[in-house]
Amino acid sequence: MKNIKDYDLEDLKQELVNMGEKKFRAEQVFKWIFQDKVTSFDEMTNLSLELRETLKQNYSLSNFKILKKQTASDGTIKYLFDVLDGNAIETVLMKYHHGFSICVSSQIGCKMGCKFCASTGIAFARSLTSGEIVEQILAVERDEGIRISNVVFMGIGEPLDNYENVVNAIRIINNQKGINIGARHISISTSGLVPNIYRLAEENIQCTLSISLHATTDEQRSKMMPVNNMYNIEELIKACKDYISKTNRRISFEYALAKDNNDNLEDAKRLVKLLKGMNCHVNLIPINKIENGKFTKSSNENIIKFRDYLNEHGIVATIRRELGSDIDAACGQLRRKNLNN
Ligand code: SAH
Repeated sequence: MKNIKDYDLEDLKQELVNMGEKKFRAEQVFKWIFQDKVTSFDEMTNLSLELRETLKQNYSLSNFKILKKQTASDGTIKYLFDVLDGNAIETVLMKYHHGFSICVSSQIGCKMGCKFCASTGIAFARSLTSGEIVEQILAVERDEGIRISNVVFMGIGEPLDNYENVVNAIRIINNQKGINIGARHISISTSGLVPNIYRLAEENIQCTLSISLHATTDEQRSKMMPVNNMYNIEELIKACKDYISKTNRRISFEYALAKDNNDNLEDAKRLVKLLKGMNCHVNLIPINKIENGKFTKSSNENIIKFRDYLNEHGIVATIRRELGSDIDAACGQLRRKNLNN
């Protein structure tokens, strides 16, 4: 059965028109799903009983079931959701002073193979549909009785390897008649799939783009991220410059600091050279050690030195607060879990 949450408003109008219904019915259905967050067609009380029946017969609402919910000492919550086909994914809710932020998964598993990331090493199953991406937001809002204000595509998967579904999900999240979260409060993070960075620049969505850079030489970066063998640093930076000039948006570069790997002064100097003059921001992440991982966290002292060097040389850099590390919910710790563990 088709998942009704896979449709953006325009596509849903088409679906309903094909059924012989008026377009405005689609707006009603859309609102019930994404604003009232109902979990059954029976609750859509301004639709005729007949239409509710037809919808039931043709579409599912695919409400996720919570398999596991863990709360960290800092209030961060990690969910393990049953995506209803025997697979499971993790989603994280973070509480900040300015509101709730959700870290969503875009795929079940990941193909990118980054050496420092816990999503590596578990078989890739499939990409998530748009409906499954937005359902992570709806399920968490239902469960906690809250309104989420920020969405980051930094969970399991490579968002730009699931391009159409991610872009469509963003349109639903952003739609004022849908979840209604401003595009500026939505971030996509990519390991650097260059052709799709060019494509995204043409979409006319005002979301934030984050680039997982993590290293300043191709030799270093290829050792951490196999994607660099396909698209090297020079090509990646060129695509970023194109993105900035086409969208007028600032890019955020993520740089996970690993001890004696990419955290010395020479690295900082190369990073300044690489990013000089770009409208960007550097997000320094103390690397989280994963099981059997060879990368360990840089010392606090080194992280601060690295940040200060960047700031003193004209690159705005901040250190990302670590949330949820005691429940394995911090950056790079999310995994695709089996239903029985
Ligand atoms: N595939 C996308 C989004 C998922 S990862 C991407 O690569 O950007 C979200 C961020 O966490 C990325 O910057 C990623 O490189 C980083 N990350 C992964 N593992 C990490 C770890 N062990 N410690 C710190 N950051 C990590």
